[in-house]
Amino acid sequence: MWSLQYTEFKPEEEGLREALCTLGNGNFATRGAGEETQADDVHYPGTYLAGGFNRMKSEVAGRMVENEDLVNFPNWLPLTFRPEHGEWFDLQNIQIQSFRQELHLREGFLEREVTCKDKMDRITTVISKRFVHIREHHLAAIKMTIRPENWSGKIQIRSAIDGTVTNNGVERYRTLRGDHLRALDGGVVDDESIWLQVETKQSKIHVAEAARTRIYKDDKKHDVQRELFQEDGFVAHSFYCPVEEGKEITVEKIVALYSSRDKAITECGLDARNAVKASGTFDELFKDHWKRWKYYWDRTDITFDEDGGRSQLILRLHIFHMIQTTSMNTIDLDFGIPARGLHGEAYRGHIFWDEVFILPFFNHRLPEITRSLLLYRYRRLGTAREAAKKENLRGALFPWQSGSNGREETQELHLNPRSGEWDPDYTHLQRHVNAAIAYNIWHYYQTTHDIEFLTAYGAEMLLEIARLWDSLTTYNEDLDKYEIKGVVGPDEYHEGYPDSDQPGLNNNTYTNVMAVWCICRAIKALELLDPDCRNEVTDKIDLTEEEIDRWHAISRKMRIVFEKEDIPAQFEGYESLKELDWDAYREKYGHLHRLDRILKSENDNPNKYKISKQADVLMLFYFFPAEILEEIFERLGYKLNREKLPEIVKYYLDRTDHGSTLSRIVHSWVLARSDRKQAWTLFKEALESDITDIQGGTTKEGIHLGAMAGTVDIVQRCFTGLSIRDDVLWLDPALPDGVNNLHFRIRYYGTWLDISVNQREIVIKAINGKREEIIIGLNGSTFELKPDEQKAIKLSD
Ligand code: BGC
Repeated sequence: MWSLQYTEFKPEEEGLREALCTLGNGNFATRGAGEETQADDVHYPGTYLAGGFNRMKSEVAGRMVENEDLVNFPNWLPLTFRPEHGEWFDLQNIQIQSFRQELHLREGFLEREVTCKDKMDRITTVISKRFVHIREHHLAAIKMTIRPENWSGKIQIRSAIDGTVTNNGVERYRTLRGDHLRALDGGVVDDESIWLQVETKQSKIHVAEAARTRIYKDDKKHDVQRELFQEDGFVAHSFYCPVEEGKEITVEKIVALYSSRDKAITECGLDARNAVKASGTFDELFKDHWKRWKYYWDRTDITFDEDGGRSQLILRLHIFHMIQTTSMNTIDLDFGIPARGLHGEAYRGHIFWDEVFILPFFNHRLPEITRSLLLYRYRRLGTAREAAKKENLRGALFPWQSGSNGREETQELHLNPRSGEWDPDYTHLQRHVNAAIAYNIWHYYQTTHDIEFLTAYGAEMLLEIARLWDSLTTYNEDLDKYEIKGVVGPDEYHEGYPDSDQPGLNNNTYTNVMAVWCICRAIKALELLDPDCRNEVTDKIDLTEEEIDRWHAISRKMRIVFEKEDIPAQFEGYESLKELDWDAYREKYGHLHRLDRILKSENDNPNKYKISKQADVLMLFYFFPAEILEEIFERLGYKLNREKLPEIVKYYLDRTDHGSTLSRIVHSWVLARSDRKQAWTLFKEALESDITDIQGGTTKEGIHLGAMAGTVDIVQRCFTGLSIRDDVLWLDPALPDGVNNLHFRIRYYGTWLDISVNQREIVIKAINGKREEIIIGLNGSTFELKPDEQKAIKLSD
């Protein structure tokens, strides 16, 4: 299954569909709103540029706060018509006789076909197709076919670029300023084309859009007399065209979008104008666009048989949106992946730790993209060092929420939509984002062995992150242990102790273990560099022997707090928090997925309860195979028995409301081997996160790219037990019941591997390997796979 289809127009679902039908190319993306729409209660046509941020100050709860937003740039979609003396085409003001909207994933285009009857009983069929060019990353195109079914006459067509748009897509941000754009220039390019240039008010990013609109009748270009309409930030061409009953006309709009962030341009206005003049037709452009999508799908598709194809379709939808958000076009754009894609304005387009769920997909398919995303962090290493210094820490303190220059963008106040109150936001204390960055660096290296990257950038970041962890630890003499205090873990519901007025928690197990892991990886990275490069990097950052000695000590003596029954505590003191009466809350509020907001609206405090928004301790089991975790715990002088895992999972799962879409991913993963049934249920729920908007209203504000990628990664790595250890690619398939014939390709260490798994066997083939052989581990032993060699191995029961 390759397409997402809707057969009815439902205004109440438009926002969701617009997010899901967003088209993008890793340079810019535009929501799937109808060409005739403007932002209102139903529609929100938004266009976002990779890295297109702007800051503004707003007054909130009596304070001036500055926020950085991914800006909504001029809307290039407007293309609409009206029969002479009739009303402009508007689905909410017309009788719809038939409706079909389809997002074609394989070819990457959005199509809508509507037949409707106006107040004068004129029936018209309108078919629009559009795409955002996945190779020519400045271009997009719309083709609209209009067929009067029972009338003849004239129609008026209007094609516009609208730069009067603001950031207004997320209701709870509406009290903050969203007027990021200032119009600079625009007008007519030539007989067929218009253009508009804007700049962002603070960051001074220039964006120029040019649009060429042509009419075709009987496949021939039809000349029309155009009228220009222009006012501040808005420019349109309008023209009349005779139409005949039963005969269609085609309107084609080719758009070029350039920005001052682009490489290899002169000046974005000039480049945009030249591009539309020189551009081919819709069909010519589409041919190239589709060819490029085919290449992406060859590398990225995952097929598996299950339940009539719904899961397959959703997985493809998720892959589609990952590539639309960050593609080969992204390389060199200095781009980090916004948690909500380029699909909406939630979280203001900021970059969180979610990349940790997204990059494994790219590592194994398009590792050059991972490399460029890691460089987004490297370029902000200086800001991270400054941030550490400001807090009297050492090393690099990367922000919880990142945007343009890498400063901390987490808001200071957070609006609780339930209570209408602005509450303080301490989520920036999630220092664990630094571990996620280290994890991404390490996994990129493990999959590619890109020693040049490690030498030039990766090792330095790993060392500075290790240094941060070192400076965050304090030594507890009584216990002879190192501790980390004052942090927030992935479960954001707990920001502090119930009786304390200071934010932060002590000895969050996830953070402490990840700190140890980071330190060990930094030491390992040093060993991997050749001596000259090692000296160069240690000299550059003034790393001392004394520091490394302390790292060794911390990596053996980090404190882990356990609850009774040997369950690693989410943090020190979690055990003594109150249990929540889940049944009572469910009865009162129905489906619970933001208990923090509920409790705060009742003047209660989530810090008091054993509740979790999402996996916290369990993240460890998501990241590491049990044997590695056992090793880490043992190194620290603790025992973690893998047999206890089901109990640990149950303990936390019973107290989790999955307030983050990431939560089900992690829980499904960690249950995959011990409770396949529940794992499968959670996986299926995770698949539905966006397509059915299971949080009830968040997807319209932007997709959840981490959860989308997480579902793909579950299939790719969890169902197959794929992990890399000591230069061996280990596989340990455990397909859920009912899933058969899983097939995909991955890239590992410069070689493409074709992998097919069913319930009985796994077949691996090395394709076009440039290396001699790679080492695969399965059923407890290893073997070599030579280029073009295929091995079929029976799976043990
Ligand atoms: C989650 C975070 C996540 C962020 C962005 C929050 O709701 O709790 O873990 O990074 O959303 O997706």
